[in-house]
Amino acid sequence: MTLTSAEKKAQRALHPNCYLCQALGVPFSELAGYEDRHIQYDHWLPQGRIGGSQADLVANQLPMHAHPQGLGPLEPGWAQATKRNCHRGKGNKFTGQEWTEYVTICQRVAKTDYSDDLMSDRNQADSAYDVEISWNQASGEATMLGKTYPLMLQRVGNSGEEWLSFSTVLPPTLLWRDLEVQSRGADHERLAKLAWHLKSNPLLSPILCRWAERRLYVFDGNHRLCAFILARQDHPVPVVIFDGPDPKRFLEVAAEAHESLTQMKYQFTEKALKFSALNEQELAEAEDKYGEAASEALAWKGLRPTDVKLRIAGRLSGRLDGLGGWRLKWKALGVTDPSWNEFISTYARLSAETAPFVSDMYLREEEFENLSDLCRIFDEELFDQLDSCPEVKASLKTKWWKRAHHRFSTRLGQVVKDNLELGNTPPAPAYTPRWNDYVRSRVRLGVENWRESPAWREATAANNEFDIDNLLTARGFTEAYLIP
Ligand SMILES: [Zn+2]
Repeated sequence: MTLTSAEKKAQRALHPNCYLCQALGVPFSELAGYEDRHIQYDHWLPQGRIGGSQADLVANQLPMHAHPQGLGPLEPGWAQATKRNCHRGKGNKFTGQEWTEYVTICQRVAKTDYSDDLMSDRNQADSAYDVEISWNQASGEATMLGKTYPLMLQRVGNSGEEWLSFSTVLPPTLLWRDLEVQSRGADHERLAKLAWHLKSNPLLSPILCRWAERRLYVFDGNHRLCAFILARQDHPVPVVIFDGPDPKRFLEVAAEAHESLTQMKYQFTEKALKFSALNEQELAEAEDKYGEAASEALAWKGLRPTDVKLRIAGRLSGRLDGLGGWRLKWKALGVTDPSWNEFISTYARLSAETAPFVSDMYLREEEFENLSDLCRIFDEELFDQLDSCPEVKASLKTKWWKRAHHRFSTRLGQVVKDNLELGNTPPAPAYTPRWNDYVRSRVRLGVENWRESPAWREATAANNEFDIDNLLTARGFTEAYLIP
C-alpha cells in the first residue's frame, strides 16, 4: 500500500528520524536534508500481520533513509556516513524490529575478531576470574567452583597417555582467547549469520577450552563463542574443559586438531586432489615426474584446452553442488545447464594453471571459496527474492543472463583488484586470493542493484547479444550502476 503525500507528511512529523539510525543511536539520524524521493516508508510488520484500518496501515510504515547512492547498514562506513540507504539489505526477510537487531549485531561484528573483543572491560589479572579445578582420576570426577562433574577419560594409542575433560555451562566472562594456540580471527559475514541463527536456536557443539594458570583458554570455537555472546550476551555457554597430561603435548594436539578441523591447511596431495580436478593417478604421475614443480599445466600436457575446461568446470560444479545445492535450485527457477556453465566460466579460471601446486600462486582453493560466496549471495539476494519481484526472472533468460554477468564480472574484477591490491585486473574474478568482507559486501550490493534494476521491468523479448547489450546500457544496467 502506498501512502498519500498527506499521510507521508503526517508520518514525517511523528517520526523526524530514520527508525533504524535512531534505534542504533548513530549520528545523522534525522531525515531532514533528504529529498522526499530518497525517503522510504518501510513496513515495520509485513503486510498481512497488521490490522486492516487505514490508520493501522499508515502507522505501520516508518520513514527511513533510502538514498540510492547512500551506504547501506551492512556496508563499511555506514555509521559515519551522511548519505545513507538504511533499507539496503533488508529485503523481505526481516521485520523492522528484526532488521534493527540484525544491523546491531553486524555493527558489533565489524569490530570483533576474537571473543575477547566483546568483553574488553575485563582485566585478566583480576582474581575474580580465577577458576580452580581439581581433577580426581581415582573417583572419576572433577570439582570446579564448588560443583562436581563426571570426568571423560580418553586413552590415546599405546602410549599410556590419558586425556581428561568434562562438560558444563559457564558465563562467557570466564573464557579467554588462547594466545598460544593461534586461531584465525573471525570471518565477519559468517559470524553475523551464526549470531543471527543463535538468537533462536541452541548451540549444539560446545566450545573447547583448556585449563591452565587458573584460567580457561578457548582453543577451538572462536566463531561460535563470538556469535553466542552477540546473540545472547551473558547467557551461560556450553563448554568442554580439557586437562592434558603435558601442556606442550596438549598444545601440539590442539593446534593440529584445530588446523584440520577447520580445514585451514591441506597437505599438498590432498589439496591438489580436492581442488585441481586431477585424478589420483595423474597426480601421482605428475609428482613422480616433476616433484615440487608439478602443476596442472604439466600434468595435463597434451590434453586439449576444451577437455581441461570441462574437467575444471565439472569439478567446481560438483563441489558447489555438495556445498550449497545452488545449481539444482536455480535450475528449478529457470537457469539452464548451459547458463550455469556460462556462470562458472565467467568467474572461474577454466584453463590449466602453470604455477606449481605447492606455490602461493596456486589459487584453486581460494577460487572455490570465492565462488561459494558468489553463489550464496546471488541465491540470497536474487533467487530468494523472486517471489516478491517476479519481473527479475527475465534476467535468467539465457542471453540476458550471459550479458548481465559479463558486466557484473568485469566490474567485480576491478573491485577485487582494488581491494585485494592486485597488480592486474584478474581475468577470472574468483581465481584470486580470498575475498575479504568488503569485497563480499560489494558483491551483495551489486546483486541487489541487479535485482532492483529497471532493466527487467521493461520488455526483454530481444534475443541477440548485440541488442541485449544496447538495451542493458539504455536501461542503466552498467558496470558503474551495479557496483558504484
Ligand atoms: Zn537511516
